[in-house]
Amino acid sequence: MNGIAADVPQGQTLDRRKVILSATAVALSLAVLVFVVLKYTLWAETTAADASRNRAVVDSETGEVILSFRIPEKSAYPWENPKTGRKTLYLPESCYWTKDGKAKLEPTYVILNLVLDKPGKTLCPDCGREVVVHNPMPPANLLQEAARAARK
Ligand SMILES: [Zn+2]
Repeated sequence: MNGIAADVPQGQTLDRRKVILSATAVALSLAVLVFVVLKYTLWAETTAADASRNRAVVDSETGEVILSFRIPEKSAYPWENPKTGRKTLYLPESCYWTKDGKAKLEPTYVILNLVLDKPGKTLCPDCGREVVVHNPMPPANLLQEAARAARK
């Protein structure tokens, strides 16, 4: 008995047990499918959430850059620097320009004046260009040039 109702020869009365068995088999495989999908979805969400909780932050007092800071779950912004115990960690903007107008692959992280309630434009301490909210990347050809230079 393989439990598949469709295998019952035609003309023969349907065996109730076979129907129940095949229904059980379908329900079981559905349950397994749902379980696998749910488990995968949960896993994917957890992984994405983990990745999104690590950010580059800059200490507004010491200038320290922490490239992969784990954002605390229940903590007000700005976050506390574990080294100093002071709430001076801010999310920076990234500047990918060099002084001589080329692109670089490792950005300079800059906290905007706006974020710190300071007046005036924010200038990158490295290249002197203005840094803005969602600071734009240099053009693609300059980035490609930087990537080529890095490979040499
Ligand atoms: Zn810069």
